[in-house]
Amino acid sequence: MAKNLVIVESPAKAKTLHKILGREFDVTSSMGHLVDLPASKLGVDVEHDFAPHYIVIHTRRKLAKQLLQEARGKETIYLAPDPDREGEAISWHLANLLRDADRPSRKQDGAKSAVKPRTRASSSASAQLPKKIFRIAFHEITPQAVRAAVQHPGTIDQKKVDAQQARRILDRLVGYSLSPLLWKKVGRGLSAGRVQSVALRLIVDREKQVQAFTPQEYWTIEAALKTAAGESFTARLERIGDKDASLRTQEEAQRIAQALKSEAFVVAHVQEKEQKRYPKPPFITSTLQQEAFHKLGFSSARTMRVAQDLYEGLEVGKEGPIGLITYMRTDAVRVAQEALSAVRAFIKRQFGQASLPDRPRAYKARKLAQQAHEAIRPTDVARTPESLQPFLTPDQLGLYRLIWQRFVASQMTDAVDRLVSAAIDAGRFRLRANGRTNLMPGWTKVYEEPPDKERDDDAPQEGALPPMAKGDRLSLENVSPSQHFTKPPRRYTEASLVKALEEQGIGRPSTYAPTIQTIVLRDYVRRTGGSLVPTALGGVVTELLIAHFPEVMDLKFTAEMEEELDRIEDGDLEWVSVVRNFYTPFAARVTTAQEEMREVKREVVPTSYTCEQCGKPMVIRWGRFGQFLSCSDYPTCKHARSLPTGVACPQPGCGGELVERRARGRIFYGCSKYPTCTYTTRRLPTSDEDREPR
Ligand SMILES: [Zn+2]
Ligand SMILES: [Zn+2]
Repeated sequence: MAKNLVIVESPAKAKTLHKILGREFDVTSSMGHLVDLPASKLGVDVEHDFAPHYIVIHTRRKLAKQLLQEARGKETIYLAPDPDREGEAISWHLANLLRDADRPSRKQDGAKSAVKPRTRASSSASAQLPKKIFRIAFHEITPQAVRAAVQHPGTIDQKKVDAQQARRILDRLVGYSLSPLLWKKVGRGLSAGRVQSVALRLIVDREKQVQAFTPQEYWTIEAALKTAAGESFTARLERIGDKDASLRTQEEAQRIAQALKSEAFVVAHVQEKEQKRYPKPPFITSTLQQEAFHKLGFSSARTMRVAQDLYEGLEVGKEGPIGLITYMRTDAVRVAQEALSAVRAFIKRQFGQASLPDRPRAYKARKLAQQAHEAIRPTDVARTPESLQPFLTPDQLGLYRLIWQRFVASQMTDAVDRLVSAAIDAGRFRLRANGRTNLMPGWTKVYEEPPDKERDDDAPQEGALPPMAKGDRLSLENVSPSQHFTKPPRRYTEASLVKALEEQGIGRPSTYAPTIQTIVLRDYVRRTGGSLVPTALGGVVTELLIAHFPEVMDLKFTAEMEEELDRIEDGDLEWVSVVRNFYTPFAARVTTAQEEMREVKREVVPTSYTCEQCGKPMVIRWGRFGQFLSCSDYPTCKHARSLPTGVACPQPGCGGELVERRARGRIFYGCSKYPTCTYTTRRLPTSDEDREPR
């Protein structure tokens, strides 16, 4: 039996570590958290400094016992969960479990006992640990990083644990107060949460702007022109006399187009300039999620799942399992010195000296970034995406390629473009043609920016312009007016929501993906053609929460809360006071809301439908999944069904209507005549874009 035991939180990571550490180390996995607040009650003593009552999670009891068995007789235990607050908290809970079990005088079964509540940040907490339990953390699961960590083991950072504990307790207090309130006022089974409800608010607010938007018609005029050498290009009408060309109607546009046809076209002047384009910094969690959405079509959750596989280690041929990327939950753009040297050598070898800047590029981190962390990058840049192709799934390869390319590009020379702008006079009209050509590809040899999908722009594509000079005469080939409408603000996509959450300082690298997942799972928001659209339920819950919990629903307040958690980690704040300062006014709001919040539940909307069971009229009520049709004689008659969609069943001769149903959390549409008709579809047979969000 090995003398040493390493405990991590995932089996894949355990496998990779075992390969690296060899026979002197047993490596085992806790499968995530073993210890947490209880599922069935609050588990926080608000009367006594918010003392948490942690328990071994019910379904993990057997595992906890096993783990203690494995720990017995070992000389040294290394706790190696991920290098962030959550990993620190898992380590702390494990250490507490092990310490309790290691006291042979206590006959109590360690796996069943509750871990002692810990209410104060105690500087002596780490010293109390038995000497032989160490905390090790590494940002990449490679032989060098892991061996270095084992050679210089550390202790648990109580400040990090406290920051995580404060987040857990705040979220618990909010969730456990707001959810029952929503059950009482809106419908059973609803939930609200600290960060999730603010994220939902962003989406609901945006939807209001979209709905309130009135598109304005406008017209542009493009002229197809030809140089004396016979080369064609397109110019757009810019000015009429000394006014900007602003055309509102078709008549106006056609009148101008007609007038243009009789003018002579002469080049007024040509401006040229060079434009440098800098590479982007290597990925952090938020930018990785955004780019994987744009380039690979991944949801944030999928990106994190695949990134975790790459980080925890995969079999790549004879080498055995190896961690392919650095830790994926990070907001730091820093790159380790060795990795910088390696990528510079790689660039020189692969693309030549001309693609290598004189000095390594340094990127500025966001103000709050945790500087101990590193950007997301390949652990070995020499492992090209092509070389890994045989060993990775398409998802893994796609994401690895993105990470690899972005990292290599981030240390290459600038791309240089030549911008040409030609002004063309035609009588009292002034037209403009823009061209862009690349002079030096630089980093774009490796990485290309995705087309900006968030941008609404009717500007023509910029290509190369044929050579021309002031005074050149041009011949007109064609004039075409085109109709446009101003566009409403874009609905959030997963990518733009993550961007907004980060910019507003709401949430942290570990919370973006779960936040989005939760509001979709609760049916507060639906993914519609890539956009996040709030449901009526999401709208009504948001409205109620804003009215009664203005702080919790405030972006700035939530961002400040996140900063306070950071300051707990920095040792500047003490967690109990942070929680208390939040909870005291919050609890008062809960009491008031119990009395004053609108009882949406009781608000029924009459309909012309009749109950299939008793013949009385049906009404619309609110429930966990939004609005539904219910018998007006409830609770005497309990008949209820989904709201009709107004879409006829497409089965020939059926005559039924499609109704919303759900199974295993997925929404689909079935026929109202089920089981006679078994038609189902994932999407209503009308375009999602045309449909009003419910
Ligand atoms: Zn009825
Ligand atoms: Zn049918």
